Formats: sequence, C-alpha cells, structure tokens
Amino acid sequence: MKTQKPLIAITGASSGIGAATAKKFSKEGYPLLLMARRLEKMQSFNLPKTLCKQVDVRNLDQIRNAIQEAEEKFGPVNCLVNNAGIIFWGNFIDQTHDAKKQVVETNLMGVINGMEAVLKGMVQREKGTIINVSSVAGRRTSGGNAIYGGTKFAVHALTEIVRQEVSGKNVRLIVIAPGLTETEIFSNIPEAFKQRYHELKEETGTWLPASSIA
Ligand code: NDP
Repeated sequence: MKTQKPLIAITGASSGIGAATAKKFSKEGYPLLLMARRLEKMQSFNLPKTLCKQVDVRNLDQIRNAIQEAEEKFGPVNCLVNNAGIIFWGNFIDQTHDAKKQVVETNLMGVINGMEAVLKGMVQREKGTIINVSSVAGRRTSGGNAIYGGTKFAVHALTEIVRQEVSGKNVRLIVIAPGLTETEIFSNIPEAFKQRYHELKEETGTWLPASSIA
C-alpha cells in the first residue's frame, strides 16, 4: 500500500516564491495547506490534496485554526514554510509609522506566529522542519529598507536560536536568504524609489525566477 506523504504548510502561498514552492511540493505528491489573504489566487492553482485558507499571518488564531483543519484532513504538519512577507521601500524618516508596523508585524510577527502554531507539536512528535524565508537583506544592510532589513536580520537570529533549542528533539529549523527574485513583492514601490528600482534591475541583470528558490 502506498503511504501518504506528510503535510506541508506554506504561508504567502498566493504568489511568488510561496506559490512556486506550493507547485513544486504538489508535483512531488505532498498534501498542502496554503495560506495567504487572497484565497481565490491559491484556489486557482487547482492543486490536488490541497486546503487553501484565507489567513493573515499577523493573526495567530487564524494560522492555528488553518493548521488544525489541515491536520484533521492530512495528519500532523511535517514542514512549515514561513514565507509571507512584504516590503515598503523608503528612508526611515520618510516612512509612515503604519508602514513600519505592517512590515514588522508581517515579516517578523508572522514568522513567530507560524512557529508558535507548529513548533510544540513538532517537538512532542520529535519530527518536523520549519523553513523561514529571510533575505540577503538579513545578512547585509542596504539603503532604503531599514525596517525590512531589520525584520530579516531578526528572522536569521530567531531561526538560529530556536534551532539550537530544539535540535535535540529532531526538529530542524532552516533559513533561506534569497537574492533578488522576480515576484510581485516590488509592485508597490513608492514613486521616489522607482528610479532606484530600475537602476538596480539594470545593474544586477536577470533576477532569479521564484521557481529557483522553490
Ligand atoms: P510576493 O509578493 O510575490 O509574495 C508574498 C506573499 O506573502 C503573497 O502570497 C502574499 O499574499 C503573502 N502575504 C503578504 N502579507 C501577508 C499577510 N499579512 N498574511 C498572509 N500572507 C501575506 O513576494 P515574494 O514571493 O518575493 O516574497 C516571499 C518571501 O520572500 C518574503 O518573505 C520576501 O521578503 C522574501 N524575499 C523575496 C525576495 C525577492 O527579491 N522577491 C528576495 C529575498 C527574500 P496575500 O497578499 O494574498 O496575502
């Protein structure tokens, strides 16, 4: 009898790296829980053995409920890809407080929320993997994205410290730090940074496709 592959949960699965990762895992035959705010986008992928849930990663209860529903259907979550993220370019002094808050709550609290929702169960089962998607901006600083870079540096530290805490329980924590990747994340660049965005594209040439990160 063929055994069912274990459940993979992915946040920010409606576009870019998350969507590409979902399609890749699905091709390998894994059951999936896809989470993001745009439900119809995830549903439009039409992936088999897949539960799509409208989830805002800033809300721990929404993640917990989605994980619980998926586990009832497919068994314990074996891997969580904490991928949801946003960027607002702009110098610290020019960015609104609300923009700063949104980036911190999504990129950092969203990752913490995802970890909270699955880590205890993984430690109890002594099995599981959490993949946190950070960025090269979490390894070296660059202009115009202090808050984004701050959240990504924090994701690196958080992942490494928790990795040490749970490695004895056969639970793995992995951090991925992609370089510039062609996705929707740059679609809301403020006017003042559009020029810089185009210069960056010129300087760096072809950006990675999301499928490469997947
Ligand atoms: P996209 O904008 O294509 O994807 C971001 C995903 O995050 C979308 O599915 C979006 O879905 C989801 N998302 C955003 N906010 C929330 C929220 N509050 N709750 C739930 N989901 C949310 O960008 P990428 O694929 O590029 O980004 C994925 C990750 O990769 C991010 O963490 C980003 O920082 C990182 N990264 C990207 C790089 C790049 O060059 N593109 C480079 C390095 C790292 P929805 O709007 O439907 O909620």
